[in-house]
Amino acid sequence: MGQMDRKLVTLVFTLVVSLWAGCAVGAAAQQQDEVVVRAIPAAVGYSPEFDRALQRGWRSETGAPGHSYWQNSTGYEIEARLDPETAKLEGTVQILYAHDAPANLNSVLIHLHQNLHREGSPRSSEQDITGGVTITRLAADGEELSERPLEEGPGWEVDGTLMQVRPTIRLEPGDTLQLDIDWEMVLPQRGAGRMGHSNNEVYLVAYWFPKMGVFDDLSGWAAQPYLGNAEFYDDFGNYKVSISVPTGWTVMATGELQNPEEVFSAITLDQLEAAAVSDTLVVIADAASRGAGTVTAEGTDGWLNYHFSAENVRDFVWTTSNVQRWDATSAEVANQIWPDADTDSDDRESDDRESDGAEDQALPIIEPVVDGTRRVLIHSFWREDVAPLWAEQWRHGQQAIEFHSEYTAYSYPWSHMTSVEGRDIIEGGMEFPMMTVMGAYEGQDASDLYNVTAHEIGHMWIPMIVGTDEKRHAWMDEGATTFLEGQSKMEHWPGVDHHRVGARSYLQVSAARQEQALMRHGDYYEPGPGYGVASYLKPAALMVALRDVMGEEDWLTAYRTFIAEWSFKKPSPWDFFNTFERFAEDDLDWFWTSFYYETWVMDHAVGRVVSKPTGGATVTIEDRGDAIFPARVRIRTSNGMDFVHEIPVYHWLAGNDHYEIEVAPAAGSVMRVELDPGGYAPDVDRQNNFWPRGSGE
Ligand SMILES: [Zn+2]
Repeated sequence: MGQMDRKLVTLVFTLVVSLWAGCAVGAAAQQQDEVVVRAIPAAVGYSPEFDRALQRGWRSETGAPGHSYWQNSTGYEIEARLDPETAKLEGTVQILYAHDAPANLNSVLIHLHQNLHREGSPRSSEQDITGGVTITRLAADGEELSERPLEEGPGWEVDGTLMQVRPTIRLEPGDTLQLDIDWEMVLPQRGAGRMGHSNNEVYLVAYWFPKMGVFDDLSGWAAQPYLGNAEFYDDFGNYKVSISVPTGWTVMATGELQNPEEVFSAITLDQLEAAAVSDTLVVIADAASRGAGTVTAEGTDGWLNYHFSAENVRDFVWTTSNVQRWDATSAEVANQIWPDADTDSDDRESDDRESDGAEDQALPIIEPVVDGTRRVLIHSFWREDVAPLWAEQWRHGQQAIEFHSEYTAYSYPWSHMTSVEGRDIIEGGMEFPMMTVMGAYEGQDASDLYNVTAHEIGHMWIPMIVGTDEKRHAWMDEGATTFLEGQSKMEHWPGVDHHRVGARSYLQVSAARQEQALMRHGDYYEPGPGYGVASYLKPAALMVALRDVMGEEDWLTAYRTFIAEWSFKKPSPWDFFNTFERFAEDDLDWFWTSFYYETWVMDHAVGRVVSKPTGGATVTIEDRGDAIFPARVRIRTSNGMDFVHEIPVYHWLAGNDHYEIEVAPAAGSVMRVELDPGGYAPDVDRQNNFWPRGSGE
């Protein structure tokens, strides 16, 4: 990034009070010379890598993907076998890495996430020690390789959770690399609070296979180790996965089950068919009917083999249990057919990509054809003895899928959404494509379980459909998801402004000057509230604030367009910023810099209200913080006038720290002044938003 330092400017300026277009209020102009020192936000600069991506048409100034946008993809064929008694997993994977980047690669990057649990691996918090991943075989393009320092030649080398593989032949654009890897490991009970097992009877198997790292247009290899806190950044890939578990154990996974007749009993198949068209609960199996031959098929030699297939997903996870109750129902969403973004992107190109942006505004909005509705299976796996609130989980899952599909205007694209109760594995929730694991929520309110469900299912949109870099820019997926969770809570738990509740917690931290910037890697926050506020509460509150600034219609179009244009692609923060600016038809750098790059505090206040003997008054609005934000001022007078006056951001950007509003004599005396009547400005001190003081909330 360019110059993001706090810039203080000293200006000698002339303040011209703007015209107040109220019928009973005359306009007054007044001049005064004053010395003002205030912060002015710097313009958002692009990194050299983003500039290069613009020049080459990989990205665009409009915020839409560029006409030559590229990303690599990977095909995985995995066979795995889990022994639930020992938590030992053995697997083989064939990886086909399609290298579409304009670069030659001497080596490739693979994630071995389970090395988080290896003795001596770097990590940001204490973890179960399991020994990590043991690679028993690795071949590249059919050539067997061994572990060795890579400067000595082809081979592979492991450093914490990262493995570099150097094949015998360098990878050139258009090549496909084939890797064959055999590995084994013991799954932890609690893998960074995101995966693991409970009592050897419930497994949530995630971050479990050697996974290709991302090579992208902005960073090259994203060689970011998994340290436990910052989450993930993945390419989209296709998976064929065969999973062996003992007979009686059900498996659900990302993707489609290919052989239901081989693994499920006739009753289970019938119940699944019923759930696929039902609006209400269908019990597939309860704890009492869990045995082999009842829920699952008999299997061969005591084992069942489940085959799954998933296309264009960011990750592949699975769950297995021999005790959980299995509830199901279905959600109904609009059946959308999206234009193929690749073939259409050229048609959608505007003519004025790199100059003044005027033509770029005309970029047509990407919209789907809607052909009726379609149903999404909702599964819920849970234990009745430990998680009674989960009796309603099938409904929570259904509600969240339906609400989010509608609000984002992007229907949930997959065939099922599965919730897994994971007591002992996790307290909150964790998201994966088509699946979430959440705590038991013992002794908590039903709304708590709904809220976490709405959140985790919200992640199906970002980062699962819109593939952001969760490690570098956690605010992109967590902020958008916390916002969507809040929006959905407004519908399901009305009577409270849930957005304001979340914003208040952020503003307390902001007022205490304990914030850390959003534009920071998720592994590098200081202990304390910094990470949580910057990743969840603040960016969610900023979505609401920006909606208030842009107006609901433009904001919603920008939000929905961002999701549609970046579906199954990998946007950066600058694509996000540019998309919103396209629909705001305005430069919003003041907003991004004040709130995303900086931790500036915003505090508007009603200053003096000076009544005039002949009636009317001068109302002074002060900007006591550094962060720039437009102000909305509501004034009521003794003659029954009730006005809202807007102070545009340009007034503050010109270096001013106060603004005077002249109320005309005909309006009578000022009875009450209120700043931000909507309540969505990120203002740290609302007490000073009212006159007379103390007349506020
Ligand atoms: Zn989240």
